[in-house]
Amino acid sequence: MKEPRKVVRIIEPQPVVEGAGVRLKRSIAGAALDYLDPFLLFDHFGSDNPRDYLAGFPMHPHRGIETVTYMLAGVVTHRDSLGNAGTIGAGDVQWMTAGRGIMHEEMPRPADGRMAGFQLWVNLPARLKMTKPRYQEVIASQIPEAQLADGVRVRVIAGRVGDVAGPVTEIAADPTYLDVTIPADAAFTHLIPRGHTAFAYLFEGSGVFGDGAAVGHPKLVVFGDGDLLQVRAGRDGVRFLLVSGQPLGEPIARYGPFVMNTREEILQALEDLRNGTFV
Ligand code: FE
Repeated sequence: MKEPRKVVRIIEPQPVVEGAGVRLKRSIAGAALDYLDPFLLFDHFGSDNPRDYLAGFPMHPHRGIETVTYMLAGVVTHRDSLGNAGTIGAGDVQWMTAGRGIMHEEMPRPADGRMAGFQLWVNLPARLKMTKPRYQEVIASQIPEAQLADGVRVRVIAGRVGDVAGPVTEIAADPTYLDVTIPADAAFTHLIPRGHTAFAYLFEGSGVFGDGAAVGHPKLVVFGDGDLLQVRAGRDGVRFLLVSGQPLGEPIARYGPFVMNTREEILQALEDLRNGTFV
């Protein structure tokens, strides 16, 4: 018998100013939820006022983690120390494995007056923290959509829904990253491997997860262990990201954009940055 997962925590996203002055809502890496192994950070950004984000994220380093940027509206223009440059547009995803080190710039810009998206940080296991940096950039048209019963639609970025497999692969955390839209009063059930950490981030409408109470948006909902997730949309439907991954169970030492296993490794990262040997 498959065990449904239950809601164990509901996190209220907190306003944060990040980068050179970007206003965003943070649900992981805040006071309420510091770390949801293997997920280190979850930010939701978006505003109709460009002053909330135009200052962007000028050149900054990352080491020991992956950053996942998924856009709903507007664009993020980026360039980095590997010589890559480009834009992440509405519906696109960039899954960046920083590994031993990358320096990059991320600048949000509006399209038709709008800009909205998400950034998730995924921890790397100790054995891959100093791996070669790598990108998987997937444009909107290459992200498949699973069309299920009752009008449920799922954009599959990583993982699998029925026969539909996401284009982002070969990630250490064995992640699922889905953008799920459920029409009013319809339902969705999804298998999640037992032992994997799982959360949903609601950003439109409301819904009931498992046998819990109705949850509105924006909220981050953390699930306990089990085999499957059941969701029923409220009367206005619901849209949420469903993210899961294998926890690492390793010690973490964290300093801003560096996440390693020990304090010595953090000091080494700072030293490498000072010496100019970081990238
Ligand atoms: Fe960054």
